[in-house]
Amino acid sequence: MSNIIQLLPDHVANQIAAGEVVQRPASVVKELLENAIDAQATTIKLVVKDAGKTLIQVIDNGIGMSVTDARLCFERHATSKIKLAEDLFQLHTKGFRGEALASIAAIAHVELKTCRDGDEIGTELRIEGSQVSGQEPCVTPTGTAISVKNLFYNIPARRNFLKSNNVELRHIIDEFHRVAMAHPDIRFEMYHNGSEVFNLPVANHRQRIVHIFGGKTNEKLVPVEEETELVTITGFVGKPQFAKRTRGEQFFFVNNRYIKSAYLNHAVNAAFEGLLKDKAHPTYFIYLDVDPKTIDINIHPTKTEIKFDDEHALYAMLRSAIKHSLGQFNVAPVLDFER
Ligand code: ADP
Ligand code: MG
Repeated sequence: MSNIIQLLPDHVANQIAAGEVVQRPASVVKELLENAIDAQATTIKLVVKDAGKTLIQVIDNGIGMSVTDARLCFERHATSKIKLAEDLFQLHTKGFRGEALASIAAIAHVELKTCRDGDEIGTELRIEGSQVSGQEPCVTPTGTAISVKNLFYNIPARRNFLKSNNVELRHIIDEFHRVAMAHPDIRFEMYHNGSEVFNLPVANHRQRIVHIFGGKTNEKLVPVEEETELVTITGFVGKPQFAKRTRGEQFFFVNNRYIKSAYLNHAVNAAFEGLLKDKAHPTYFIYLDVDPKTIDINIHPTKTEIKFDDEHALYAMLRSAIKHSLGQFNVAPVLDFER
């Protein structure tokens, strides 16, 4: 009997990996925005058509790429962000897996224009089915513009599985909010089908939150601040009288990365104990800064889960910081819901 195992060709491996990284247009938006941030952009523009189903474009004024890097960035495990396994525990970038662009290029048509500061001429590249289908020098501003077109064009099952434009756009806006809230020092713009959706100037955290959620948000916010050896906690919780029955605005950011944590959510709820009516959910925007050595982000390809070394201590500190803030601002228990 002959042997039957063979190595999968790259484009097949990429398509399989893409299944984990790219669930929907919003996943592409997240990956491209994060790359722009890692490239030290100070202005990032997101252009979307048909809720991302036909076009997702991110234009940044970051460091750009050389000709060689522009080709290499679409290879799997190609990254400028880590070199050694140890680097996983001192991450200062959003990316590190070197997987996003390879995955996206396996399931969409991609166009890249990029130029580094000081380079006289930039590079334009087109990718189809993980292969470079065109490359020429081009004149383009310093930075990078990536267009992702016809997402899942080669995977009809995934394309059909996409929800209505309203739903997919909602996911994109949610992702955009999370990234924009984590980086108020960056200017963000978003356009959908030619109309401006957001134009967020450089701001502080409070201003960015108010820009996104509207002027009325400002009066609802109670600042939270705490610094210990383990963690620096900043951000805001909503005053209890504004809590709603539906889970509204609840955000954790760890080292400027949006994460989900049922455990930390529990800590916030514990801090609000006695202040909320049954089943009401507090609003919160909590920023935790910790030593990258004390966390593991490499749990899932989308990086929305984190493993903390000392979860229990973090829980206690977060709860006490919020309790303290609520106490300081003389927040009294509420007896009824806001209508
Ligand atoms: P990762 O972000 O994990 O490194 P990606 O596949 O997202 O992997 O990107 C691969 C590489 O391409 C990055 O490490 C970076 O060097 C380069 N790159 C991607 N996007 C940009 C960008 N907007 N500006 C400059 N370089 C970029
Ligand atoms: Mg990336």
